[in-house]
Amino acid sequence: MKLKLLIIFLLSISLAQSKAQQKTETENIVLITLDGFRWQEVFNGADSSFMKQQERLKDPKLKEKYWRDDLTERRKVLLPFVWSTIATQGQIYGNRTLNSKVNVTNNQLFSYPGYNEILTGSADNERIYSNDKIYNPNTNVLEFINKLPGYKGKVAAFSSWDVFPYIINDKRSGVYVSTNVAEVKGNNLNESEKMMNKLILNLPNPLGDVRLDAFTFYYGMEYMKKNKPKVMYFAFDETDDFAHDGEYAAYLNSANYTDKFLSELWTYLQSDPQYKNRTTIIITSDHGRGDNTEDWKHHGQKIAVADQIWLAIMGPDTAPNGEAKTEQQLYQCQIAPTIASLLGLEFDGIKKKGAPLSTAK
Ligand SMILES: [Zn+2]
Repeated sequence: MKLKLLIIFLLSISLAQSKAQQKTETENIVLITLDGFRWQEVFNGADSSFMKQQERLKDPKLKEKYWRDDLTERRKVLLPFVWSTIATQGQIYGNRTLNSKVNVTNNQLFSYPGYNEILTGSADNERIYSNDKIYNPNTNVLEFINKLPGYKGKVAAFSSWDVFPYIINDKRSGVYVSTNVAEVKGNNLNESEKMMNKLILNLPNPLGDVRLDAFTFYYGMEYMKKNKPKVMYFAFDETDDFAHDGEYAAYLNSANYTDKFLSELWTYLQSDPQYKNRTTIIITSDHGRGDNTEDWKHHGQKIAVADQIWLAIMGPDTAPNGEAKTEQQLYQCQIAPTIASLLGLEFDGIKKKGAPLSTAK
């Protein structure tokens, strides 16, 4: 590291640390992850060389929907909320063509290690090296917050992938985790939940055990309206599954309607007295993927560039700087301490390495 960069780095850490004690305007956090969604599509939009790759889940309108010759138009047509609202009111990191970089620090480059790093603020290559349903020994930031006075029962996660109860260790942490292709239970289900319960077991699901993201989102939204969590996590999955299947059309369509979910979520947050102007949203992914017509389907240790991810953030403590356009290096392990810091808390994970991001005005 060059001396000048080192000084800037140390300075930003000390600024961030002093900020942890400062009063923040953020009182609620919504974390959103898109599993294995590449920074390349976030910043460049659809890739024309991948567009022929659609087998079972064909979309004859794919090119018409997502191809534009102009790069800024192209990425905006794929992710309109990201490139209109977040690009003007928040911050977006990870465009490597502009030297803005976000990387994972774990050396596994797949899902459980990535989510462990996002949620605990540290890689754990010694203990977290598979996607098996093993209860996570590490304390995560959701758990840390859920145990604080004023937050108990106000932290929830809705996930499409059914490994999340283990990643978050719901047994130990007490964090409410909703997952599985199953009806939601409860005595006072509303009409939306009853309708989703009718649909969830009666629609063809190309992803088998993975709950389709629309169910994860809309069940989660009903939960938010009823229970008003202060920290909410939506973990979407389809982008990764469709990418592994080489279904580029489904991968893009999934990213596109996840962007619509973000828009709907933000409209709700800004219409609700608890959330309005007091909520920060953070959007990222657990890992990257390869960067050519074959490797984009894959990730893991054989795909070195799968450590490259991206991050977007928007809320009352985030300056409206838009897309980061200067040389910069952020890490996945900074997300957990950033969530705590935005709430005016300091999160000490077992082996916390990340410093909170400094996004202030
Ligand atoms: Zn994967």
